[in-house]
Amino acid sequence: MALLIKNAHVYAPDDLGVVDVLVVNKQIAAVGKDLTVTMPGLETLEAKGLIMTPGFIDQHIHVTGGGGEGGPKTRTPELVLSELVACGTTSVVGVSGTDGSSRSIANLLGKVRALQTEGVSAWMYTSNYAYPPTTLTNCVRDDLYFVPEVLGVKIAMGDHRSSFPTEEEVLRLLTQIRVGAMVAGKLGVLHIHLGNIVGPFDMFLDIAKKGFPIQHIRPTHCARDLKVFEGAIKFGLAGGYVDITTGGSCAVGTPADGIVEALKAGVPADHLSLSSDGHGSVPRFNEKGEMVGLGVGGVACNLRDFKRLIGEKGVPMTTALPMVTRNIAQALRLPGKGEIKEGCCADINLFDENMELVHVFAKGRQMMKDSEIIVKGTFEL
Ligand SMILES: [Zn+2]
Repeated sequence: MALLIKNAHVYAPDDLGVVDVLVVNKQIAAVGKDLTVTMPGLETLEAKGLIMTPGFIDQHIHVTGGGGEGGPKTRTPELVLSELVACGTTSVVGVSGTDGSSRSIANLLGKVRALQTEGVSAWMYTSNYAYPPTTLTNCVRDDLYFVPEVLGVKIAMGDHRSSFPTEEEVLRLLTQIRVGAMVAGKLGVLHIHLGNIVGPFDMFLDIAKKGFPIQHIRPTHCARDLKVFEGAIKFGLAGGYVDITTGGSCAVGTPADGIVEALKAGVPADHLSLSSDGHGSVPRFNEKGEMVGLGVGGVACNLRDFKRLIGEKGVPMTTALPMVTRNIAQALRLPGKGEIKEGCCADINLFDENMELVHVFAKGRQMMKDSEIIVKGTFEL
């Protein structure tokens, strides 16, 4: 398969201006002005007036369904492929959540592999909220070593549903992740669901002060509580990565406001990212603020808040776009992801001038064409 995408304005996420992009099979083979290509079977897509970005990366989706806090009937359904395509998300990291009883890690791995086969790129964190961790092999190090999809471990902290691990326990878990990942040739991260009980950030900073590399400590839901957000800013200023959740509640206005506040406070832009928390359960409220039921968290909120950032917040495209692409690829060491560059994976979004999606490619395969999803999940047809 060879496709020449002509004359799009490419944000790689750096602004490359109007250039051509050649895709051969699953990869970007060339990027340049007025490319002349002769190849058998070459197709051309005229993209004049369109904006090209790398496919988005979402590092927190409950791909097998989350929820369950209100009993078995509140277990949310699995993600289906077209939800990702609809919002230009071509890479996901699957997570487990509160329900560590009926949601197994093996099931999570199965779903991650299904998504890979259906066309997007997918990884996972092993374990769920609880400490000690629940793994596939009964060993964090072995999960990292033997399961290519495992990027790290998930845990909940500062939450009424967490196990409240001590600093020593967290540090011991972090060293298992670090050593397991070293041997496996990965980075290895502890992905931390934060609730609204303050304390974890003091612990993280203390651990970093003791000399443990801060890069392995990856908190998320950093803007759901004001005090927690203050801790996240300190953590970001100390060299940590700050992930702000676009789904569910936000204590600092919108998630886009959270990013703006973090930037204002001096957190480096390349240490900020957005994730959706998609397919968790989300309480629904009536106009009086009374809870009337549960809904399923969507995955399109990353795209919504990215648009907010470059729209009403006036954050430059080249600052905002990495927060849903390159920053995450670099932070999780996902090779060939998050960039439009020769040799990179052909994960490509094309937007019109109103930032509405027109075309989506994942691993070189067109998933959306002229704003219509053309590749759907196995059971969506
Ligand atoms: Zn979640």
